Amino acid sequence: SAKQSGRGFAVFEAELDRHSPRRLALAGGMRVAINEGQIQLYYQPKADLRTGRIMGVEALARWDHPEFGIVGPSEFVPIAEQTGLITPLTSFVLDAAIRQVRTWNDSGLELSVAVNLSARSFLDTQLAVEIPRLLARWDVEAEQLELEITESMLMTDPARAEATLTRLSQIGLTLSVDDFGTGYSSLANLKRLPVDVIKIDKSFVMEMAVDASDAAIVRSTIDLAHNLGLKVVAEGVESEDAWRQLETLGCDFAQGYYLSRPLPAEAATRLIRERGTG
Ligand code: C2E
Ligand code: CA
Ligand code: CA
Ligand code: CA
Repeated sequence: SAKQSGRGFAVFEAELDRHSPRRLALAGGMRVAINEGQIQLYYQPKADLRTGRIMGVEALARWDHPEFGIVGPSEFVPIAEQTGLITPLTSFVLDAAIRQVRTWNDSGLELSVAVNLSARSFLDTQLAVEIPRLLARWDVEAEQLELEITESMLMTDPARAEATLTRLSQIGLTLSVDDFGTGYSSLANLKRLPVDVIKIDKSFVMEMAVDASDAAIVRSTIDLAHNLGLKVVAEGVESEDAWRQLETLGCDFAQGYYLSRPLPAEAATRLIRERGTG
C-alpha cells in the first residue's frame, strides 16, 4: 500500500478527499457510467523507434461525466478499487479493447492493444478465465493483447505475483512492467518472472535531456533489459531530441506526445493508417 511505501502525506490527502462531494458523486455514479457508455477508451500509439511504424496502442480510459466533463483514470480508477467496482470496470475495458482490435483486424490493420491492470484486478484469479473468453468472443489472438502491470504490484507479494504472471503468460499474452524505475525493485528481481517488456517511466524519459542521472537510468535500464531478453518501451517521449537520443541508446519502442496524444478510436485509426503498422 501507499502507507507501506512511505508516502504518508499522499495517504493523508487521499483520506481527506474521500468525503469530497466530487468523489462521492464519482463513486455513486460509476456503475451507471460503466453500463451506459460514459467510459470510453482512448488509444495512444507506440512506434518502433527505427522505422516509426506503429506496432501497438495503449488503451487509456476516460470518463465523460455528465456534470464534470472528462475525468481521468488517475482519479476514477482508485475510486473504482475502493468501492468494489474495479472488476466490472476492468471487464469493460478488456472487452472494449479486444473488440477494437477485432475492428482493426477487419480493416487490415494488425497491431496489439495494451490494457492497464489495477493491483486488485491483477490478483483476481478470474482474470485468467475471463481473458480467454473475451479473446474467443472477438476472435482475437492472445499475442495481440498486452497487459501492463506496475513494478510496485509485482513487489508487494512477489510469490503471488509470479504465480499470477505465469498463469497469464501461459495464455500467450504479452506482459509488460509499467512505470519501471519508480518502484523499489531491480531488474535482477524481474529476471525470474515471465515478463516480456519493460516500460521506462516517463519521469526519467521527460528529463533525460536536462538531468544526467535520469539519462544514466534510461541508458542502464535499456542495456540491462536487453541483457535479460526483454524489449524496452520509453514512455513520455515528448520531443524529437528525446526520440533521437532513445534511438541512439538502442531503445526498441517509443510512446508519448511527440508521436501522439491518446486519441479516440476514430482519430487513432486515421493516425495508424497514416503511419503504417508492423
Ligand atoms: P500510465 O499507464 O503510466 O499511462 C501513461 C499516462 O501518461 C497516460 O495518462 C497518458 O495520457 C500520459 N502520457 C502519455 N504520453 C505522455 C507524454 O509524452 N507526456 C506526458 N506528460 N504524459 C504522457 P492517463 O491517460 O491520464 O492515465 C493515467 C494512469 O491511469 C495510467 O498511467 C494508468 O496507470 C491508469 N489507467 C489508464 N487507463 C486505465 C484502465 O483502463 N485501467 C486501469 N486499471 N488503469 C488505467
Ligand atoms: Ca500503462
Ligand atoms: Ca506508465
Ligand atoms: Ca530528475
